Amino acid sequence: MSLKPEEISKLIKDQIQRYDDELEIDETGTIITIGDGIALIYGLRNAMAGELLRFPGDVYGMVMNLEEEHVGAVLMGESRGIKEGDEVKRTGRIVEVPVGDVMLGRVVNALGQAIDGGEPIQSDRYRPVERVAPGVMTRKSVHQPLQTGLKIIDSMIPIGRGQRELIIGDRQTGKTAIAIDTIINQKGTGVKCIYVAIGQKASTVAQIVEKLRAHDALSYTAIVSSTASEAAPLQYIAPYAGCAIGEEWMENGEDVLIIYDDLSKHAVAYRTMSLLLKRPPGREAYPGDVFYLHSRLLERAAKLNDELGAGSLTALPIIETQAGDISAYIPTNVISITDGQIFLQTELFNAGVRPAVDSGLSVSRVGSAAQIKAMKQVSGSLKLELAQFREMQAFAKFGSDLDAATTETLNHGERLTQLLIQNQYDPMSVAHQVLSLYAAKHKFLKSVAVDQVSKYESAMLKYMDREHVDIINAINEKQALDADLEAKINEALTRFGEQYESMIEG
Ligand code: ATP
Ligand code: MG
Repeated sequence: MSLKPEEISKLIKDQIQRYDDELEIDETGTIITIGDGIALIYGLRNAMAGELLRFPGDVYGMVMNLEEEHVGAVLMGESRGIKEGDEVKRTGRIVEVPVGDVMLGRVVNALGQAIDGGEPIQSDRYRPVERVAPGVMTRKSVHQPLQTGLKIIDSMIPIGRGQRELIIGDRQTGKTAIAIDTIINQKGTGVKCIYVAIGQKASTVAQIVEKLRAHDALSYTAIVSSTASEAAPLQYIAPYAGCAIGEEWMENGEDVLIIYDDLSKHAVAYRTMSLLLKRPPGREAYPGDVFYLHSRLLERAAKLNDELGAGSLTALPIIETQAGDISAYIPTNVISITDGQIFLQTELFNAGVRPAVDSGLSVSRVGSAAQIKAMKQVSGSLKLELAQFREMQAFAKFGSDLDAATTETLNHGERLTQLLIQNQYDPMSVAHQVLSLYAAKHKFLKSVAVDQVSKYESAMLKYMDREHVDIINAINEKQALDADLEAKINEALTRFGEQYESMIEG
């Protein structure tokens, strides 16, 4: 049997075609090298950035590098048992997490799988973890307060719904405590909360879950946890997964608070991945796109306009500094992306001033638009008074002869500092905060000994709750102090002062 040349070439072409089909080079690939949780794969020509890949043994990986000859992927599970030459399949899906109210009260990993020992999460709604942030026209300016329940923050560094406020400080300065207190304070406000733990000890996360449960805060909170022992890719995905969960609620017109604890560890996880993928290291060995890592996350916090349901996503990222250095690479990046920072200081913390907020270095660039008027009225001069006090304090160390005005500033500052100290897990309502700050502003603390300030405060607030519910209600309703209300407060505080003095003497 003889064949014409054309027929031969057609036959070969057909064969090659079939061969290609069998290989499905677009949809499957072969592992070239694998190690340290990173796989280089030949084939997978159609793979997308961020796509999930299926490795043998039901292990998943995520596409990170799309190169001419191969694809670089990170593994999100145990890579033992996977070897060179193994086959890898595309899934055609970007990493997604389940979303919706089923997430409330649950602890999940970065992929949205339950890790609290409860039922597997069953949701009919899934969202990709990465998404482009809402555009300029879809947003509205921040105008409603998000109360933290902490006097020092709500008075001087107010946070509005949809804002991004960084909590920054050295290790063990009470960063997480501020975030948890803020979650606890959202009880009954309708604000849903998400706590994302990145690279933390599993025991720490367990403690936080217990605290939230003990304060009835778990019913409106979802927890996304990727502990220090988990693979870097999971730590990398966790904040985006938490954000996707929050976005679902935001787009339903609800208000959401999300905590990223903390983004320093997130950056480190990303650096690990990038170096293993052989991306070129830059400053502090972080890859060049580390700024984008956090900006595309934090830009997703927003206050949506009325047409889109007026929902909001408020983000409180946390950054850990080394020896108070806020000018290191990652801290400066995140400071520039957020709308302000709450700066915590070790010296203050050790001196017992807790929350250890440095009121001089802390700012909130948009939140004051969201503060209620009554709070503005009592806290307007607070920052300045504290700054003056600190200045005089340093100066007063040298001399003993002080004029009356200086002594007065010092006395007032000492009492203010005491008043702003607040215990953990003890958030205060706005009305109570207004009353406390009112007492300080109008010199009702003048005759109270410095170490008695917190006792005076709690006795005063109890008295107000008992005898003057009308005042509390008026502050809540009017949200502002008019002459009439001020007169009532003055009278009540004077009467309480008399009682308090006789109580102390007696
Ligand atoms: P890390 O760097 O380890 O994450 P952190 O900065 O998140 O620490 P926390 O864990 O919040 O700090 O707090 C450190 C310790 O200080 C905890 O034991 C906590 O209970 C205590 N603490 C925090 N805030 C207060 C407060 N307002 N009053 C009293 N104790 C507090
Ligand atoms: Mg912490």
